[in-house]
Amino acid sequence: MKAELLYEGKAKKVYCVHEDVNSLVLSYKHDATAFNGEKRDVFEGKGRYNNLISAAIFTYLSEQGVASHFKHVLNDTEQLVERTTIIPLEVVVRNIAAGSITRRLGIEEKTAFPSPLVEFYYKDDQLGDPLINDAHALLLTDVTSEEIEQIKQLSLLVNQKLQPFFAEVGLQLIDFKLEFGRNYSNAIVLSDEISPDTCRLWDIKTGAKMDKDVFREGLGDLVEVYEAILNRLEAVK
Ligand code: UDP
Repeated sequence: MKAELLYEGKAKKVYCVHEDVNSLVLSYKHDATAFNGEKRDVFEGKGRYNNLISAAIFTYLSEQGVASHFKHVLNDTEQLVERTTIIPLEVVVRNIAAGSITRRLGIEEKTAFPSPLVEFYYKDDQLGDPLINDAHALLLTDVTSEEIEQIKQLSLLVNQKLQPFFAEVGLQLIDFKLEFGRNYSNAIVLSDEISPDTCRLWDIKTGAKMDKDVFREGLGDLVEVYEAILNRLEAVK
């Protein structure tokens, strides 16, 4: 089913599909990178966990009425998705302070925000994905102001749906990153992945970090942590 390689990123390869111009195959790699690619390693098995965790999340969101590009899992490390052209924005939603916002604004880690924050980053490796505002997004991408509002509302809705989803398996959703694309009819569609590579998840009982920070901060065995998340999600299915 896979045709030519369309794009290779840090964590995934994207393939065209024979005789189906409106689908793509996302192939999850076992690589982990952090700090804009400065820290990297390969974790055998990681691709499978991100593929299956992302599939479980998109399936749940779809049951909750939140559509995405996800169609179905093909095998351990690959999934079929609707073809979209990614808008070069990383949309970050934050419930609790962690990561870059603690350094940029001097907010102490673990500080809860009175309401979730939505931030835009411009997806450009050479620039180091800088934080931008709405006016910059209008200038740098093809989104309209109405679409910016739509993207913000959709991101907050995803947050509203994912908080109880993770709480049920004993995880607190600290923050996460979403990407949106345009499909064949120019509509905006939730795309890319949602996985422990793109979310911060803290164990509700112990406070342990159960996401890519385990790799960023050298806290333990990344694959064991991702396996534990998939096991918890499968146990409540
Ligand atoms: N994130 C991501 N890709 C990026 C940057 C951030 O998936 O290129 C996710 C990250 O895993 C976290 C959230 O977005 O869940 C907020 O990240 P932050 O801005 O704190 O950056 P970090 O400190 O992780 O570099």
